[in-house]
Amino acid sequence: MKWIVGLPKFGIGALMAVLAATLGVGRPAAGQAVRLGVLMDRPRQLLEAAWTDDARQVERAYCVTDWSYGVYHVSRVAPIQDDTVFRVFQIRDADVSNAGPSAVDFDCPDGMPELHIHTPTTCMGDDVTTCASGGLNAYSCQPSRGDLEKLVRRRDPFAVLQCDLHAFRFYYASEYGPPNVVASGVGARQRVGNLTPAMRYDEPMSKPAADPGSGSRATP
Ligand SMILES: [Zn+2]
Repeated sequence: MKWIVGLPKFGIGALMAVLAATLGVGRPAAGQAVRLGVLMDRPRQLLEAAWTDDARQVERAYCVTDWSYGVYHVSRVAPIQDDTVFRVFQIRDADVSNAGPSAVDFDCPDGMPELHIHTPTTCMGDDVTTCASGGLNAYSCQPSRGDLEKLVRRRDPFAVLQCDLHAFRFYYASEYGPPNVVASGVGARQRVGNLTPAMRYDEPMSKPAADPGSGSRATP
């Protein structure tokens, strides 16, 4: 999700434009176009300071104690498209009941979205003594099935995982969709052969009626 990591690199002007466009908010947009997640300076610095490449580490977990969202109206005419920008201002350690190198059991109070760490290691099962830095399972920036199921169960608007020193991945309940979402998406057609659902189509995706890239959220 490079655009999440890249957002803070926008110029101040572009950031202010996003802020200005996100004022006057009701609730997270229903006609969802894009969700953006931003980890503000304080929690980012805290997480970066806690980050380690140590092979013998277990996952860590935090509760988001202060956050906000704003809706950015991309298009006010049909098809109405709104983007939502989530900002995390403050986190605290979560009460962890059990932690291993590939999972952490914790619960945050209602209303506090959750954040956890994916360790930069590869292990044999859940035995931390078998872990090595790097390898196949390091830097996995996708929420696991368990992560997504927990998010859906909690009904939080977002959750975050850190998968590398500077990499913070926001994820949303909409990522846990019905199994045929990808195959039946707009522009999809039946394919045969050795294709996986994640493969891109050879032909360009159809463009939306209103270009969500236009407006004040421009590149510097
Ligand atoms: Zn996870």
